[in-house]
Amino acid sequence: MAKPLKAVASGKPLYRRFNTLLIANRGEIACRVIRTARAMGLRTVAVYSEADADALHVKMADEAVLLGPARARDSYLNIDRVLEAAAKTGAEAIHPGYGFLSENADFARRCAEASIVFVGPTAEMMEAMGSKSGSKILMEKAGVPLVPGYHGEAQDDATLAKAAEKAGFPVLVKASAGGGGRGMRVVRAASELSAAVVSAKREALAAFGDDSMLIEKYVDNPRHIEVQIVGDSHGNLVSLFERECTLQRRHQKVIEEAPSPTLSSKQREAVCEAARKAAGAVNYVGAGTIEFVSDGKEFFFIEMNTRLQVEHPVTELISGVDLVEWQLRVAFGEELPLTQNEIRLNGHAIEARVYAENPNKNFMPSVGALRTWQMPEAVDGLRIDSGYGEGNVVSPNYDAMLAKFIAFAPTRDLAISRLNRGLEEADIRGVVTNIPFLSALITHPQVRDNKIDTGFIERELAKLTPEQPALTEIELGAAVAAILRSEDAAAARDAHSPWRAARGWAAVGARHRRFLFRQADGIERKVSLRYGRVPSTLSIDGKVIAFTSSVPARGGIDLVLDDVKYHVAGLLDGREVYVRTRNGRFEMHWADPFGTEDEEQAGADRVVAPLPGTVVALLVESGATVEKGAPILTLEVMKMEQTLRAPFAGTVKQLKCKVGDIVQEGVELAEIEPAKDAAKS
Ligand code: ADP
Repeated sequence: MAKPLKAVASGKPLYRRFNTLLIANRGEIACRVIRTARAMGLRTVAVYSEADADALHVKMADEAVLLGPARARDSYLNIDRVLEAAAKTGAEAIHPGYGFLSENADFARRCAEASIVFVGPTAEMMEAMGSKSGSKILMEKAGVPLVPGYHGEAQDDATLAKAAEKAGFPVLVKASAGGGGRGMRVVRAASELSAAVVSAKREALAAFGDDSMLIEKYVDNPRHIEVQIVGDSHGNLVSLFERECTLQRRHQKVIEEAPSPTLSSKQREAVCEAARKAAGAVNYVGAGTIEFVSDGKEFFFIEMNTRLQVEHPVTELISGVDLVEWQLRVAFGEELPLTQNEIRLNGHAIEARVYAENPNKNFMPSVGALRTWQMPEAVDGLRIDSGYGEGNVVSPNYDAMLAKFIAFAPTRDLAISRLNRGLEEADIRGVVTNIPFLSALITHPQVRDNKIDTGFIERELAKLTPEQPALTEIELGAAVAAILRSEDAAAARDAHSPWRAARGWAAVGARHRRFLFRQADGIERKVSLRYGRVPSTLSIDGKVIAFTSSVPARGGIDLVLDDVKYHVAGLLDGREVYVRTRNGRFEMHWADPFGTEDEEQAGADRVVAPLPGTVVALLVESGATVEKGAPILTLEVMKMEQTLRAPFAGTVKQLKCKVGDIVQEGVELAEIEPAKDAAKS
């Protein structure tokens, strides 16, 4: 057995026991690492930027250090500041998460020089595997199958053109330093090559500061298969099965699952063995992923990621291994807890990445404060990893991933259904999310049947981003219930509120109230509510429906329309109503929150206060002759003014209030005598 690796500078072993761990990251991954570190009895230190002062990872950690301004370059990517934070808090180890500094060899080296354990591989391993071309040279030697192509040093046009010709079109031009799908172009003909190289180089230089390119045969309609591996500093190395991440958009993963539903057990063994060979070529220490593209039969190595991946939870669920725990144990200098033979595969797991973005607007990122953040209960095989909560702000400075929903079940079909159910029960407001898109994607019949490739999402996009359907009586009923519930809650909160005296709306005797809802497309829908003995009734488009609503213990709203009970979610935020029903999520604007009296309302022949409020202006004098609809007086209700109008033409017989009066709901404020020829209805 080999001795623990020594750091060159300090002579201390690179991997050794520690008590305080700094997490150089944010969001869900910082929270996820903190959770396991705490469970292992470690003291945790968070770092954060000015934009993240209220973030969940800061709250979860034992200590937290401000790094600097929001821009990643000034905070999470600032190596000096991160190392200072470690020195200040006595952190003996740093977990880099993914992204940010996780694959920065210079950072790993600086940690070693400062005698800080870097939870990951050594700088040398990262350098060997970090460049796509460098790693391919190594893999070639180790006998790992590669995509045919070119990964040499010469970068002149003639060399690249010859390489592309040799690989055969279509080819993929790829930045050697690339990541996140950037600096990559598919080229289908020789005539398009040089333009693609120029633009890929420009993108790669801006993103990675390195514009060397490699050329690969483009595998048509491929699948993405990757293998999780973990090595320790004693020379042990195991694989923890594969993940399939074929559902991608612009070469970025959207859905990941484990095991791959495509591979036979023989293929599984082969790809895992190739991955162990690949990692073994650099005596890899830590968690890592070997990525392959596959045409369904063969596998070709494309790159290695020398860190924990976003999609690691699906592997955890099918193997029962906590990968962060293993990373930390390896960093302690321990041996891996299990040998290859002891690692078992059980069930199926699938993950969806929830982003703040709008799939209906070309996936434009959406930023802002999270006004509502309600996650489904994480039970029955549902795991939710997130770093956000209500009130947190989604900043334009960072990746817009809000959460990962991961479902686990004995079969793939059941795992998909569980995931979908979880997605359908989440309520996030304040930013637009891709949740409806994810639901449509995982329940697509071809996804259920595993008839997919990496181009599937792009081809099916129209079906995956449907326009919002029209509101049915369930959504309109839910909207009314949400408003009533919010009024009841306001009354219960404020003992001095005139609303309390009115005891909400429901207790008032038989009367009508009208609601006008407007959707983003401008379509308006009217609902009128008639309070009666229980149940009340709603009338929608001339149809009368018995209506009751109540708040069950599990939350949400129980809505009963005629004889069917629906469990729905409904929220009133200012004048915006959000509802979630079995038909999806809907936002609408409550256009007439004061229930403008109309012809069909009881008391429509009188001028009555529709809500408790204050009289702020009298607009006519006693004895005046008025037309139907003429303004009579203005009432201020909940800081908004509403004008009450004449219900019919006539004479103002008496004004029953004066400016400044606080009036209760239902009180008559003016008496109007109808003109002899005025129709009262
Ligand atoms: P990045 O590091 O930017 O994520 P990768 O090399 O990992 O880039 O590739 C990202 C994705 O691009 C893969 O998951 C796969 O879908 C696609 N891809 C990469 N190489 C090929 C190839 N040779 N043929 C077809 N698709 C490829």
